[in-house]
Amino acid sequence: MGEPVQDLAALEADARETIAAAADLPALQAARAALLGRKGSLSQILRGLGGLPPEERGRVGQAANRLKGEVEAWVEARRASLEGAARDRSLAEHQLDVSLPGDVAPRGHLHPTTQVEREVVAFFASLGFSVETGPEVETEYHNFEALNFPDDHPARDMQDTFFVEGGAVLRTHTSPVQIRAMSGREPPFRFIAPGRVYRHDRSLRHFPMFHQVEGFMVDERASFADLKGILYAFARHMMGERVDLRFRASFFPFTEPSAEMDFTCLVCDGAGCPTCSQSGWVEWGGCGMIHPNVLGHCGIDAERWQGFAFGMGLDRAAMLRHGIPNIHLLFEGDLRVLEQF
Ligand SMILES: [Zn+2]
Repeated sequence: MGEPVQDLAALEADARETIAAAADLPALQAARAALLGRKGSLSQILRGLGGLPPEERGRVGQAANRLKGEVEAWVEARRASLEGAARDRSLAEHQLDVSLPGDVAPRGHLHPTTQVEREVVAFFASLGFSVETGPEVETEYHNFEALNFPDDHPARDMQDTFFVEGGAVLRTHTSPVQIRAMSGREPPFRFIAPGRVYRHDRSLRHFPMFHQVEGFMVDERASFADLKGILYAFARHMMGERVDLRFRASFFPFTEPSAEMDFTCLVCDGAGCPTCSQSGWVEWGGCGMIHPNVLGHCGIDAERWQGFAFGMGLDRAAMLRHGIPNIHLLFEGDLRVLEQF
């Protein structure tokens, strides 16, 4: 080791250069350790002060301490510069464009028929009806026999009914729910039964699967007048106060008397248009007083109890509401169609 002060001057020049040249934080850390670490060159000079003649000790000590402070300042400045550069690099590499549109997950919604079905159920719930369901693969007994269909009734024909191996059928209407709901129960009751039904029919207006809702009420005094009152209230709730109903005498095996009901065409207000085939009326469904034989099949005393039932399609309501011209569009699962509702 030469003159301590000359050593310090050389060390200062060397330290300044080494620190400025440190290319990254580890290199800077190493440079600092080589100067100020326990075995660093400046630390050694400071430790050696005790061996100097007293007249030199103060001067060299002062210079070494000044240099130590400067080295610390250079290291900190270089560290800040390296960290700033690293941050700038990272920002440049990972550019975030906050103006880009977000990655929004697609949100589904209820099928138009489901929306109508829920409104129907909510309306009848407000009148004290509770929901009943039944299987879609049904026995012939529940679908036909208990509902008073004679053996040779055309509805039992292959033309209308999907038969399942083993003698079951795909239910052709929601009426078998009447049988399941009433059997083994004591009236009075009010039930609403929405669900899928199946018929061997396919055209622009028909699809092999569609949705019906069945409603029925049994007590000691339920009358056709009650039935009409409920249907009027229901129609006005669903279609508006202007709507009128028409009842036409008809025949169903499971009701007597029976009627088909129509509502005034909402497109032309009854004046006649293509939607209603110029008649001013749109077919809505069927209704009637529950046949005593049906009550009997359910173990209900038809001398004491009477009731009414009605059924109608749900899909037509969804189609009319949205102006959907073809029932197939509802069920073919084309998202381009379904996403519009
Ligand atoms: Zn019309």
